[in-house]
Amino acid sequence: PCTDFDMAYFHSYAHVGIHEEMIKDRVRTETYRAAIMQHQSLIEGKVVVDVGCGTGILSIFCAQAGAKRVYAVDASDIAIQANEVVKANNLAEKVIVLHGRVEVESFIYLGNCNELVFYIVESYVLLYEGKLLSVRLWVLDAVIVDVEIDEEVDVIISEWMGYMLLYESMLGSVITARDRWLKRGGLILPSTATLYMAPITHPDRYNDSIEFWRNVYGIDMSAMMQLAKQCAFEEPCVETISGENVLTWPHVVKHVDCYSIQLHELESVSTRYKFQSMMRALMLPCFPAPLHGFGFWFDVEFTGPANSPPNNHTQSSVIGSLNNDPVDGSQRKKRTNPNDALVLSTAPEDPPTHWQQTLIYFYDPLEVEQDQVIEGSLVLSQSKENRRFMNIHLEYSSAGRSYVKESLPAAGNLT
Ligand code: SAH
Repeated sequence: PCTDFDMAYFHSYAHVGIHEEMIKDRVRTETYRAAIMQHQSLIEGKVVVDVGCGTGILSIFCAQAGAKRVYAVDASDIAIQANEVVKANNLAEKVIVLHGRVEVESFIYLGNCNELVFYIVESYVLLYEGKLLSVRLWVLDAVIVDVEIDEEVDVIISEWMGYMLLYESMLGSVITARDRWLKRGGLILPSTATLYMAPITHPDRYNDSIEFWRNVYGIDMSAMMQLAKQCAFEEPCVETISGENVLTWPHVVKHVDCYSIQLHELESVSTRYKFQSMMRALMLPCFPAPLHGFGFWFDVEFTGPANSPPNNHTQSSVIGSLNNDPVDGSQRKKRTNPNDALVLSTAPEDPPTHWQQTLIYFYDPLEVEQDQVIEGSLVLSQSKENRRFMNIHLEYSSAGRSYVKESLPAAGNLT
């Protein structure tokens, strides 16, 4: 059932700020638009569902690309504004805003009485000698209903990626939409996603938060350092680092194929990693480089079903700009992979996005030599209480010593 956690989650998307941040992230928004135009031949005259439409921006891009009909689904109240935006752009014929969840709920609808909608959300039916004693009802003043779409769709578009890719667990909603509505051979944008990790060095950050306490206005405050480490590094941090902070090639934590991934695969993601030869440390002035933790980032690719090559002819026509202001040449360059698929990357060496990178810092840096090995394991698991929370269990060992770092953050910390 729709829990209080979900209510809070959807409520957070009713604020303008979160949508403003996403839309102003031009790397994000323009790559989506370019991907839509690149796949125009598969969208024109077709039926699309936008999973989590927010303000409706991606739905409108799809309508502009010639979609016959776009179902713009959002459970948050932002759907009210999306509907207005659609009308103001004379697209109400094509873009149908559906205010509700993608997932089918296990509610039992009891009827509408005095303007209150009654559902049995959690039902405890007490029976005594066959007589009904009580039925426990939860009455919610705002009930989030699931949406129905009475036809199969050709295309699913969604911007579902959270910090560290999997925070918020919205990918599950895309899987649900796929299994409910997508035609065989239909298109999913984006189509793959990959989460990476790599050892990082970040002396400035460490000095700023920890070493700072050694000498404060001439006072030795190093007694604060233990507390500072605890407070600064207990939870993952969302920050921007650069390619220079990254000590070696990244390891793939998880590769997701949106066409085939199953819901249960998201419950827990685990990997073993082994990093060797911290090559880039050689380029840094301080060598051996202190290893401050691990950085995480992701990219997503926009490819057709079964990797059919996208059409390229519309590429140039899509490079307009938001708000009609000029876009400089550097922003026009979209990263593509060798198959020519568009890539939306949040890597430290690529232009920054609102996702930044996610860092898991060690409480104390490790000194590593060039060929030292650091290895271990990582488990990302959905919290049992709230699948939007992610528990992180990180083990690492180097030079014969082993460490464990665990974090059980509230999803709210990172969104
Ligand atoms: N597509 C928009 C907004 C992306 S943010 C854009 O690109 O700017 C993700 C949106 O998905 C949020 O508005 C959130 O309310 C919605 N959402 C998340 N899970 C959902 C679900 N299960 N059903 C319906 N909407 C959902």
